[in-house]
Amino acid sequence: MKFCSNCFNDTEIKNIINSINNTDVCDIHNVKSEHIYDTDKHDNLVPYFEALVDVYTVASESQIEIDKAKYVRLKYDLLYNWKIFNDVCKPENVHNIVKSICKEKYEESPSLFDNDIVIEELFDLEYKKEYSLLKTYSWDDFKTSLIKNNRYHTNIFNKKLFEQYCWAAPKFYSAGTKFYRGRISDKNGYSLEDMGCPPLKNSKAGRVNAEGVECLYLANNIETTINEVRAGVADYITIATFELQKDIIIADLKNINKISPFSIPDSNFLVNYAINKVHLSKINEEMSKVVRLSDTKLDYIPTQYICDFIKTLEREGSTNEVVRFAGVEYDSTLSSNGYNIAIFDPTLFKATNIEIRQINSLKYESTKIM
Ligand SMILES: [Zn+2]
Repeated sequence: MKFCSNCFNDTEIKNIINSINNTDVCDIHNVKSEHIYDTDKHDNLVPYFEALVDVYTVASESQIEIDKAKYVRLKYDLLYNWKIFNDVCKPENVHNIVKSICKEKYEESPSLFDNDIVIEELFDLEYKKEYSLLKTYSWDDFKTSLIKNNRYHTNIFNKKLFEQYCWAAPKFYSAGTKFYRGRISDKNGYSLEDMGCPPLKNSKAGRVNAEGVECLYLANNIETTINEVRAGVADYITIATFELQKDIIIADLKNINKISPFSIPDSNFLVNYAINKVHLSKINEEMSKVVRLSDTKLDYIPTQYICDFIKTLEREGSTNEVVRFAGVEYDSTLSSNGYNIAIFDPTLFKATNIEIRQINSLKYESTKIM
């Protein structure tokens, strides 16, 4: 079977296929490419996919009691849960591609490819205690324990594991990159000086920072900024452009649940990542939650805890320098193509330009909840 790198989403797999020089036609896309993986000629992908298939156990052979509703099929799990393949691939295409990459494995145990399978560790409490980000607890348990039991230290959150995921989801920005911040103002707007972080004594708690801790919240474009400040019709907004003063690296929480399972060559990583995808998605979801008037400072404590931890991480870079995350990045629920960053040290950015806008119209969408 022959396929091209565009049949995949996974960056590691794409890079491997793109490094192969072999001109042919992709069976899925039906287009010619200079980089075609041909399962009759190449075997670079075999160890990757064999390791992934090895994560599973045939459901009927599992020793653990598992609810049948939790059984999965390889083709659907790789496509919809791991998101390794591009949407152009249908489940049957995935089935054929994986079968033809792992020819020997398929002959050995066809049931793994054709029948119901499970990741046993997902249902193994002892395993989860050690390798799940929240052990056997839920996000709500974690939140309650921080709020009601111990604000600054917890045994629930597996920091060592989370650190590994943070370094696997870096985002680099070069000096000169522009971001935006908006504030509701009057017609005359605010001055450049008033558009940075509030002075420390007025610094309110947010999703990333505790009260009294500095943090600069910025959005990737003007549309997101306008949505994030949630102005009313006829309100004026002052929007400042902020320019990055030096190259930085930030922890990309919006992609931390989309790390390539092949990026860390360790079979435990695959299993652990499968267990933790749900928690990692929850972290981005909590970061992106719309700030409601009814929120109390306590609602932000779990994300503050996580961001404070990210702030402490450091490691040695390629030229022996100490590398630290300058902030975090997360989705904006208020803008479909937008995202936000929160920067720990506001002096990394300089406000360079101001514009004042007026809101002409708003669009409300609602869902009946009662
Ligand atoms: Zn293709």
